Amino acid sequence: ARQFTRPLNDLANQFNVFLSAVAGAERVFEVLDEQPEELDEQDAAELDDVRGEIEFADVSFSYERSGRTLSGVGFHAAPGETIALVGPTGAGKTTVVQLLTRFYEPDGGRILIDGRDIRQIKRKSLRRHLGFVLQDVFLFQGTIIDNIRYGKLDASDDEVRCAAKAANAHSFIVKLPQGYDTVLQQDGGGISQGQKQLLSIARMMLADPSILILDEATSSIDTITEIKIQEALYRLMEGRTSIVIAHRLNTIRQADRILVLADGKMVEQGTHESLLERKGLYYGLVRRDGQSGQEEIVIQEQAWGRAG
Ligand code: ADP
Repeated sequence: ARQFTRPLNDLANQFNVFLSAVAGAERVFEVLDEQPEELDEQDAAELDDVRGEIEFADVSFSYERSGRTLSGVGFHAAPGETIALVGPTGAGKTTVVQLLTRFYEPDGGRILIDGRDIRQIKRKSLRRHLGFVLQDVFLFQGTIIDNIRYGKLDASDDEVRCAAKAANAHSFIVKLPQGYDTVLQQDGGGISQGQKQLLSIARMMLADPSILILDEATSSIDTITEIKIQEALYRLMEGRTSIVIAHRLNTIRQADRILVLADGKMVEQGTHESLLERKGLYYGLVRRDGQSGQEEIVIQEQAWGRAG
């Protein structure tokens, strides 16, 4: 994994990219994992088994002195629950994730995992329990099997295949002329966006984290692959706590809880049904197609203006 290490001064740059599309997060983790343990608080502990309970208690944060990016954000996720973060660009969804991963520390309030303040958890230990499936999948120049194995470096070939099957990736891989030994170019040139997502899911199946952070793809992926991705994702999310930066109504509707963020504040929180009943901000985002009766979610600044 050492080959992915980059100079630390790259980190800030990487990081700006990181959560605008949450790109490169895995790489950034590699870099952070190389950092000395002195950074950890003296009483920081290892977390062995994590159930995946998450609590944000009155969390506030600003990137700069002026202006608040998040204020008074509070929510709870029981182990295994799915939380959808919804809101317009700039609302603070990504920042919530950045605080959970401890790329930044809150200015106020606390973030707890399994009831323990994350400041009291060794960074390495915290990151071992967090997994990512991001829009922008990190692939390195190497074989498909090694790219999947990146999720668990000591996984056997059988384990990798199992994970690929569970991730609906196996069938496309074996159709490639070199199968699992196909060499991917850096950034995965030669396979489709959707196939990259499937590899990323396979990798996470191997990594087996208790907490998943998902940044739903907004780019168009063909319908069949999209269905495969959805199915694989649900399989991956089973039994894990998931925080989803969500764009698709289907995902949002199935979440145990939807957090509606606007301008750094959590303006609403509830299930799809309860939020529709409230007829608040969220309600204004969901449009019903008159002809098909199909609902779709439209997160546009204009929609928020009207709803707010
Ligand atoms: P979202 O993910 O909902 O689009 P973000 O969490 O990315 O929102 O951004 C919330 C606010 O914080 C925005 O106003 C954004 O411009 C600002 N912001 C995000 N990242 C940084 C940063 N690294 N430095 C300064 N401001 C930032």
